[in-house]
Amino acid sequence: MLPHFYEAVLDLVIKTSTDLPPDVRAAMKTALTNEPPGTQSAQALTIIAENIDQAAEGEGAICQDTGMPTFEIKAPAGANQIWMAEQIRNAIAEATRRGKLRPNSVDSITGKNSGNNLGPGTPVIHFEQWDQDSIEVKLLLKGGGCENCNAQYSVPCELAHLGRADRDLEGVRKCILHAVWQAQGKGCSPGVVGVCIGGDRAAGYLHAKAQLFRLLTDVNPDPRLASLEASVMGRVNELGIGTMGFGGQTTLIGCKVGALNRLPACFFVSVAYDCWAFRRLGVVLDGRDASIREWQYRDPAHPSLPMIDQAGFTRTGREVALTTPIDEAAIRSLKVGDVVLISGLIYTGRDSVHSYLMKHEPPVDLKGGVLYHCGPVILKDGDGWKMMAAGPTTSAREEPYQGEVIRRYGVRAVIGKGGMGAKTLEALRSAGAVYLSAIGGAAQFYARCVEKVEGVSLSEFGVPEALWHLRVRDFPCIVTMDSHGGSLHKDVEVESGSRLKMMV
Ligand code: SF4
Repeated sequence: MLPHFYEAVLDLVIKTSTDLPPDVRAAMKTALTNEPPGTQSAQALTIIAENIDQAAEGEGAICQDTGMPTFEIKAPAGANQIWMAEQIRNAIAEATRRGKLRPNSVDSITGKNSGNNLGPGTPVIHFEQWDQDSIEVKLLLKGGGCENCNAQYSVPCELAHLGRADRDLEGVRKCILHAVWQAQGKGCSPGVVGVCIGGDRAAGYLHAKAQLFRLLTDVNPDPRLASLEASVMGRVNELGIGTMGFGGQTTLIGCKVGALNRLPACFFVSVAYDCWAFRRLGVVLDGRDASIREWQYRDPAHPSLPMIDQAGFTRTGREVALTTPIDEAAIRSLKVGDVVLISGLIYTGRDSVHSYLMKHEPPVDLKGGVLYHCGPVILKDGDGWKMMAAGPTTSAREEPYQGEVIRRYGVRAVIGKGGMGAKTLEALRSAGAVYLSAIGGAAQFYARCVEKVEGVSLSEFGVPEALWHLRVRDFPCIVTMDSHGGSLHKDVEVESGSRLKMMV
């Protein structure tokens, strides 16, 4: 047997969830440098940078959506894959118990969370044999917000703003640009795309995801694909989508393309979109005892340099302080672009809570209240609770419900990420409410704004989906949809659409 295999995998899982690799840090540092200070993207990037440092220092999850654990393993012939898979499942359950991973595995029929990240299809484990005596274990943690931004095109096809995409590399380039434009800030931009040209639908997505294991700084060994990657990266940041879709200089930090043979009748372009919290690491294990021989993507002998060398998120003095419950006049005075600092009691609510509120009265008084689209990582701590990670989740999923919830229960502010649609915008206008963007993935930064977890309702929905009562102080957000019909998300989508048109 391999006595160190379990502890090596547990170490890998914890490091992947908490310490962003150097190539991603470098790309995010460049993004921060390129953004003019004072812009919304610059503010967001400062929070992201501070969050990356906090996660590494405190060994906390970089993002509360710790994602689908996907393992790619290469092992010598004869290695016991059944045993290794069992050890991997044990390590995943232990990392979840320690709060390094959020319980993320949900029964698709009953909606019940397994609580330990185990279940059919979770974690994903792929084995391959190789002719070396060592074992390579790579892990990707990719969350739901960016997973929902994946796209698959069957070309030839017509694309908004870009016209026809043909079965050639120019058609592929159009598909990639379209996928990035379509994602806007919903996948927590700046993102990275892994792309597969060809294959069948299933193999295409798999191969696209496999590209995400490449280093951001590598050069594709196929000169045709290297040129395609360079051509995408040469133009894509002109879209101006920016960090979290706030508008800005950096929309994408990497584009990695692979190709598979296809059937003559099919031509798929599969795009796997990953967020700035681009978490993947690997280890090479000794084939005799599975001790770690080497870390991939990072070198423990050279610890990662901090992202922020000065104070981090600093106040300008123009922030608007709001304390819950909030009255209508205070909300009506806010405009898109204002930065607010929320204090008081707020409530989390995402998919299950919104669906519940369509049929039942809320278990708490939401009048004048703030609803936070967040699926936190929280551990039981004696009689109370310990907040481990608390960033926002993608708001677009609540679009069918949000307007009605705001009107029915008098909610004054919704915090989330990625923006919401026309129905919500109209409800904000008529009811006097605002949509506030928090910075996606900044789970440690926002966890530190939570003074106390005061209670929980609807705990039967599981940790991420329950309605948590959070006492917060100076919780910073940006008004991106106001009560006067203003929407930064709508403006950036229209403007980036017209820039997309110029890229053909
Ligand atoms: S950073 Fe955003 S998209 Fe990425 S895992 Fe976190 S919430 Fe999801």
